[in-house]
Amino acid sequence: MPLLVMKFGGTSVGSLDRIRRAAKRVGVEVAKGYDVIVIVSAMSGKTNELVGWVSETSAMFDAREYDAVVSSGENVTAGLMALTLQEMDVPARSWQGWQVPVKTTSAHSSARIEEIPTEHLMAKFDEGMRVAVVAGFQGVSPEGRITTLGRGGSDTTAVAFAAAFGAERCDIYTDVDGVYTTDPRISPKARKLEKIAYEEMLELASLGAKVLQTRSVELAMRFHVKLRVLSSFEEYDENAGTLVCAEEDIMESNVVAGVAYSRDEAKVTLISVADRPGIAAAIFGPLSDAGVNVDMIVQNIAEEGRTDMTFSCPTDQVKRAERAMEEAKTSGEINYHDIVADTDVAKISVVGIGMRSQSGIAARMFEVLSNEGINIKVITTSEIKISVLIDRKYMELAVQALHDAFELEKAV
Ligand code: ADP
Ligand code: ASP
Ligand code: MG
Repeated sequence: MPLLVMKFGGTSVGSLDRIRRAAKRVGVEVAKGYDVIVIVSAMSGKTNELVGWVSETSAMFDAREYDAVVSSGENVTAGLMALTLQEMDVPARSWQGWQVPVKTTSAHSSARIEEIPTEHLMAKFDEGMRVAVVAGFQGVSPEGRITTLGRGGSDTTAVAFAAAFGAERCDIYTDVDGVYTTDPRISPKARKLEKIAYEEMLELASLGAKVLQTRSVELAMRFHVKLRVLSSFEEYDENAGTLVCAEEDIMESNVVAGVAYSRDEAKVTLISVADRPGIAAAIFGPLSDAGVNVDMIVQNIAEEGRTDMTFSCPTDQVKRAERAMEEAKTSGEINYHDIVADTDVAKISVVGIGMRSQSGIAARMFEVLSNEGINIKVITTSEIKISVLIDRKYMELAVQALHDAFELEKAV
């Protein structure tokens, strides 16, 4: 039988009523003849609550126990979804990650899926089960311990199942009706996209658009999974939502596909480091060893053999970065006068594959920000994106001004 993967995010399973609504949607696909793998998130707010409990209990928590606690929200919704389907006379059963098993690396709290054996669930489908409900976000390490896939990880569970089982499509049901040119909660002018290329979605996700977890887009691109984002609250139709697909499947698109923002980026400056060959390696080596994900880097022009080095990293890694730098200073690898962290910043990015062939987008972006009186602190570019770091208080203004300037409310 043809198979679909349907993923329901936190708000879509946020109450028993909503679980019922989602289950009805699954029931419709089953009635059409599909076997369905349903991936569920925890009820909205639950994972945040669990993370809070862990931090309150233990400041420098053991990541294995973090995963044991934080993965539990999904266990509840998986069981409830299976029960709801059974009440509707749909043969359904729930699985936790370890039971499938979803085999992952042992990088607790940000594990990667390595393998999903299909035999066990396939045998159940063969016996007449129509829906396998799988708790998203969780897996099991080679050591046999529960792991989680990082925040938003149920999207990745869904795409990984779609790839492993050769699903016809992977539908991601959420609280917006598709992927927009920017977060519709920030800009009322945001426009829903009918299609978006994997590459663009990958950049938007990694630059802060949390509608899909970055890793899920990576997997979809690699395994050619037909991925759709749609609302669980609106009436369903075949063309609903946004299709994330190969570039070749999109006839025309704007040069800039979308604007993303992230509040989770901080700026760290090492003041007055010696400007000598090897200094960058001496700074960024220890940062990498400490697991700090450095994104943007700026080295100032040197004066009298000394310079300032600025980099950005996720806000929750600032402490780790500072510690790594202090250790490198103590061991004599580097020398600096001071280290200053600024967490009151935001990263704003414009993304579009059209930038490969059209120049002038960066210049236009800088001009727009300058017209709004917004100072740019750090810049990075790649072939299809430009990112800037600015004061957090200008974040929404910048997103809106860029959305206007690149006329994203209009389709080409
Ligand atoms: P779920 O709980 O269903 O996984 P998320 O909260 O993780 O939902 O993701 C959906 C949210 O992503 C939306 O409510 C929206 O605010 C946000 N978002 C950010 N950027 C975009 C974008 N470009 N298009 C659509 N939604 C976006
Ligand atoms: N419940 C997890 C989270 O909030 C995973 C998910 O919803 O995708 O991050
Ligand atoms: Mg999500």
